[in-house]
Amino acid sequence: MSEPTIFTRIRTGEIPGEILAETDRVFVLRDIAPQAPVHLLVIPKTEQYRDVVELAAGDPTLLAEIVEVAGKVAREHADGDFRLVFNTGPHAGQTVFHVHAHVLAGGLDEKSVG
Ligand code: 5GP
Repeated sequence: MSEPTIFTRIRTGEIPGEILAETDRVFVLRDIAPQAPVHLLVIPKTEQYRDVVELAAGDPTLLAEIVEVAGKVAREHADGDFRLVFNTGPHAGQTVFHVHAHVLAGGLDEKSVG
């Protein structure tokens, strides 16, 4: 067995972290290094999927649940508008290989990505 990921270690209470919500299958963690006024991570409890491409292929229902929970927490912690970012691969900035969605919200400027 490989070591638990940083996100699992936070979820199980081994190391501290601010968990804001959870369902049977996902939990919401406040990012330790926020890139927006509200920066939350929606993370599956399973470590099975490294990134969103694997998740979409393996469990699209779980991916849909991540999107649904992202919308819910964006309404609870900001005005409901948000960016959803999945860094996918090290050259795209992914550092934790336990799939997670960044929810960026609250006072974003109007310039979109791209
Ligand atoms: P990635 O770079 O893989 O897309 O995103 C990983 C995210 O996890 C980063 O935004 C980083 O700030 C966050 N992160 C890394 N370690 C911790 C931690 O110990 N606690 C919390 N709350 N967030 C973390």
